[in-house]
Amino acid sequence: MKPKTMSVRKLPRKVYSGMGMISKTRLFMNWLLHRQSQTCISCNTLTGHFSEYSGICTSCSVQIPWIYKIRCVHCGRPTFCPDCLRLVPSARYYVCNRSAISYTPMMREWIGQFKYRGNEKYASALGEIMNRAYRAMRHEFTGRGGSVPKRSLWNVDVVTCVPVSETRLAERGFNQAQVLAEEIARRNKLPFVSLLARPQDTGKQSFKTKKERISSMDNAFAVIPDMAKLLKSLVLKADSRYTSARMQSVTVLLVDDIYTTGSTLQACARVLGEEAAEQGVHLAIFCLTLARS
Ligand SMILES: [Zn+2]
Ligand SMILES: [Zn+2]
Repeated sequence: MKPKTMSVRKLPRKVYSGMGMISKTRLFMNWLLHRQSQTCISCNTLTGHFSEYSGICTSCSVQIPWIYKIRCVHCGRPTFCPDCLRLVPSARYYVCNRSAISYTPMMREWIGQFKYRGNEKYASALGEIMNRAYRAMRHEFTGRGGSVPKRSLWNVDVVTCVPVSETRLAERGFNQAQVLAEEIARRNKLPFVSLLARPQDTGKQSFKTKKERISSMDNAFAVIPDMAKLLKSLVLKADSRYTSARMQSVTVLLVDDIYTTGSTLQACARVLGEEAAEQGVHLAIFCLTLARS
């Protein structure tokens, strides 16, 4: 017969009082560990109800401000977008951007914990949020039904990210956009390659005006030295899957954490696109960002 297990509370008073100090300490430590494992990383509440997002309780998860309906097909804004209306089509270097969530105070806190305070507990949850947005994006671009097989309509050939400068990397110890991009690549069995470098530090974008952001982005990025070689191998892989209509065309998923004005993504996409064009390759760049401010 299976022996009956008893919780500390149910132990008879006599037995409990007769325990040695070591056992009591061990029980207390177990209780403490158990307690920590059930505390929501966002609201710090002890809970038994966790969501599908690592460490996040169900009460917090229902507050995740998902962007379900977009109004601007170019930048993925859920509201009216005068910015993209003003943008001439020739100045668009990427096909479109989609963001997972709105940048609410709660999301600002989560992203801040991960990005600036290096709180690793948030990496999984944010990666999971990002992956859900990627799946929604794939669903949006692969269409529904029709005679054309879904896979041939939209398939990411390579996942890459907005780079950070060496200074910022030394400061934070990691590139938050890379962590998110690698998570998407890993979960969807896609190759991740750092295609871009950031030779100069453009300073904190959040302290700049829109005009300053755009001008500081000029020449902020450069492609990696092996870009030409890499493009060739990507084209070969892409061509083996597609018909001749897709010859010399590579689909890139460019990942970043926050979309504010889109100037960072524009600058990255321009550098990538121009370099690829020199090699005779067309890049279809789709951007995916965690939050839309
Ligand atoms: Zn919570
Ligand atoms: Zn827009």
